[in-house]
Amino acid sequence: MNIEDYHGVWVFLEHKSGSIVPVSLELLGAGRRLADKRGVSLAGILIGDGVKPLAEHAIAYGADCVYVYDAPIFKYYRTESYMKAIIAGCQKYKPEIFLYGGTSTGKDLASAVATDLATGLTADTTMLDVDAETGLLEASRPAFGGNIMATILCKKDRPQMATVRPKVVKALEPDYSRAGEIMEEPVELREEEIRTKVLDIVRFAVQRIRLDEADIIVAGGKGLGGKAGFEMIREFANTIGASVGASRDAVEAGWIEHHAQVGQTGVTVTPKIYFAIGISGAIQHLVGMQNSGLIIAINQDPNASIFQACHYGIVGDAFQIVPLLTQAFQQA
Ligand code: FAD
Repeated sequence: MNIEDYHGVWVFLEHKSGSIVPVSLELLGAGRRLADKRGVSLAGILIGDGVKPLAEHAIAYGADCVYVYDAPIFKYYRTESYMKAIIAGCQKYKPEIFLYGGTSTGKDLASAVATDLATGLTADTTMLDVDAETGLLEASRPAFGGNIMATILCKKDRPQMATVRPKVVKALEPDYSRAGEIMEEPVELREEEIRTKVLDIVRFAVQRIRLDEADIIVAGGKGLGGKAGFEMIREFANTIGASVGASRDAVEAGWIEHHAQVGQTGVTVTPKIYFAIGISGAIQHLVGMQNSGLIIAINQDPNASIFQACHYGIVGDAFQIVPLLTQAFQQA
């Protein structure tokens, strides 16, 4: 591989229900900054069925060019088909940097692409920069349970790839007068080449706002004692327009669905406000929420570790405090 042949910054444009997801728009903002610093162009890659109209939004949010792979074979997200489109794009255009949102899709896709292209991938990053001298991507992420920030370089392989947590970088204000190029790419992929078939899509009731996109989260733990405790915090969350999260122990007890789990083996969240209610503050929970803007803990044990990690703490019984908070906000 001759790394001199690789130019430009690319962003994977994830979309859902006919819109580009917020983290991809944020990455166009970050990608614009990196591309300008490198003096190269910023491109988006859009894969789906009937997705071409979304390209103009990507241009408004900072892309110079959008490569569109639009075909019925991409109707549903499947790792193999999307990966093959990305690999075709990388082999044809040779981007030097490639960014994905740190969503389930982004993480799944980026790791598959990195394996196939035998290149490096820094997962779950929170800061991006390029070194002015070497031009290398500097992808930083918390490590060792958040005790250090590690900056990871991919020196020998291209593209340099990273998944980036939602809400850690800012999207640009959209400018629909920006000019950009929309390139419709040929799709030669055939259904027989894809081993996964989508038989059915089963939708389950999800909360109004996804946890990784929520501005306010009310999270409950084992201290809530059961499903009734979660009903209590759900009422509080609904009152203040928050989403409901949980510790792993609460999820494992079956009090709330698995997708609500925050932490090392759950979702990483960065809301403006995070309420931790009846949560002890184990390191595996903290790594998933410690970058929240404001952390408010409610716990009856004054020595609970969560009080070391929060901005405001209330020592007391959640079953007394939460109804009072709900009532106060309902009356406000
Ligand atoms: P507990 O530790 O039991 O804490 C309950 C708290 O509630 C206590 O502090 C108690 O004082 C308080 N309390 C009790 N009653 C009340 C009341 N009435 N009012 C107010 N407070 C009350 N955990 C995660 O959360 N997310 C992860 O992603 C995760 N990944 C893990 C990965 C690995 C490899 C391992 C080993 C563990 C992981 N864990 C994870 C588990 C983690 O170590 C903790 O066990 C878990 O976070 C504890 O959950 P908790 O705080 O709800 O429960």
